[in-house]
Amino acid sequence: MYTRQDILGSAISLTPKAWIALMIPIVMLIACQPTDGNDLPAESATQVTETSTHERAAETVEAFNELTAQLIEEMLELRPEWAIYQGRYENADRLTIPDRAHREETTTFIDSALQRLGRFDPESLPAAERTDYELLSNRLESMRWYQEEFRNWEWMPSTYNVAGPIAQILNTEFAPEDERLEIVLARLEHVPAYYQVALDNLDTPTLEHLDLAIGQNRGGLSVLNDDLLERVRHSGLDDAQKELFEQRLPVARQAINDWIEALEAKQEALTESAQARSFRIGERLYEQKFAYDIQADFTAAELYERALAEKERLHADMDEIAVDLWPEYFPDRELPDEPLVRIAELIDHLSERHVKLDEFVDEIRRQIPLLEEFVREHDLVDQDPDKPLLVRETPEYMRGTGAIASISAPGPFNPGAETYYNVTPLDYYGEELAASYLREYNHWILQILNIHEAIPGHYTQLLHANRSPSLVKSLFGNGAMIEGWAVYAERMMLEEGWGDHEPEMWLMYGKWALRVTFNAILDYAVHVLGMEEEEAVRLMREEAFQEVSEATQKWRRLTLSQVQLTSYFSGYAEIYDFRERLKAEQGEDFNLRDFHNEFLSYGSAPVATIIELMTEE
Ligand code: ZN
Repeated sequence: MYTRQDILGSAISLTPKAWIALMIPIVMLIACQPTDGNDLPAESATQVTETSTHERAAETVEAFNELTAQLIEEMLELRPEWAIYQGRYENADRLTIPDRAHREETTTFIDSALQRLGRFDPESLPAAERTDYELLSNRLESMRWYQEEFRNWEWMPSTYNVAGPIAQILNTEFAPEDERLEIVLARLEHVPAYYQVALDNLDTPTLEHLDLAIGQNRGGLSVLNDDLLERVRHSGLDDAQKELFEQRLPVARQAINDWIEALEAKQEALTESAQARSFRIGERLYEQKFAYDIQADFTAAELYERALAEKERLHADMDEIAVDLWPEYFPDRELPDEPLVRIAELIDHLSERHVKLDEFVDEIRRQIPLLEEFVREHDLVDQDPDKPLLVRETPEYMRGTGAIASISAPGPFNPGAETYYNVTPLDYYGEELAASYLREYNHWILQILNIHEAIPGHYTQLLHANRSPSLVKSLFGNGAMIEGWAVYAERMMLEEGWGDHEPEMWLMYGKWALRVTFNAILDYAVHVLGMEEEEAVRLMREEAFQEVSEATQKWRRLTLSQVQLTSYFSGYAEIYDFRERLKAEQGEDFNLRDFHNEFLSYGSAPVATIIELMTEE
């Protein structure tokens, strides 16, 4: 079972290998392309020629799909930890030691994979395969770039943590308990070697990632605790294995503690000498990372400009609403002169309207069928009534990431399992924080949240993606397309009349959209333009109307991740602009449902690729 971190997920999901964190698993079935070449009659000479051309094309497609399946198998073998998160456990007992030999092995694989891919001409492949080709070659080039240029293995100590995969093995019932404990036992053996290599790899880290690594590894110790030993003692492992467990666990814990101590020493030394690496990655690396991670046909600098324009547009729209609504809500008070001040006051006032603490999950459950009905009645996009979305309370082991809501879809190697909408009951966060969340997810924003997560956002997109199943897309699907679609869906639904064009709804939408817009603005401003914390927090508070807690948490995320925060806005802007262009070109012939169905039919490919496919002819 996999969870998609979301727009709300302020958690930093820095998994052991940063590139793994970029992958968003989606339900799928094994790719199989129908070949219809056999049905063609071969009576005349012309037809024979056509048939053989057709057959050759079908053979190429088949060979291409065989190659992609093969490359994915090789990748799963190269990175057992990544495989574990994708639901493949054949090599789960092998802890990858991140040393030079492993980096060389990775390079050899990338070279060989790119060379084999190079035998195909992407332009000659059908749309589904062509998009797979682009995703796969981008992924390979990106693996090389992360290893050789970005080199986060040298300065991001938080990339090292043995506990994540072990927790995954212990929490996922993919095999009987004893078998899973044996896998953990095997992984424990090399934990000291792993952290020794990690220490050797470390050059000059950033203070921010040192801090994160220390915290996460302390958290990791709670996975390798006495409860685990208790579990082993009650298991069916034989005595020799149990004894080995009793030996290896404390040694592994010691290795983690030594690692934490070494990081603390580094932290102290770097703080004193002021020699720590800056968390700001600078323009060159930022533009490159943006190109690999987002795969848009514009630069990060261009997206930054687009986001600034969107901010102006949103502010203007929101101020118009604020001026209109002011006398209704504050009949005895004069309208403030400053637009941002009057917008903020109105938002603050309206945020009082929200569900009761114990009604939060039920209210979400109630809204899902209403959204479904609205989409059907307004003919907005195809849905599948046979694949229900199950709303549930977030399982305990998945809580604590800061995400209030997320969609869990079974991994590509576990098709047929249910899709869940996880909602964390707010009382989990304690009284004070829960009250703040209730104001944040007030009457209006809760509806926008459901549009984003469920219908017609992530869940609907997933259903469409599953109709053209592709292992490549389910493993390497484009994050900007996936998030961009969900963000696009919010505005589209309101434009089509969800919320009855109520001005309050549009005002709250503005606040919500400003968060996404500022994610993009600040990520670039901080990493490339050197913006400082004080200014970033001020902008979030005054211009995006965020609570203090949200703004400070976002600052932390800005220092720990790069580019990912732009994906929501980037995908949204691409989709929205493309739709507006088509509308202008097609005039009365433009059909919104057809546009959505076709857009979603290419799976989670980069938006730029989908646009290319939809406009060629
Ligand atoms: Zn999302």
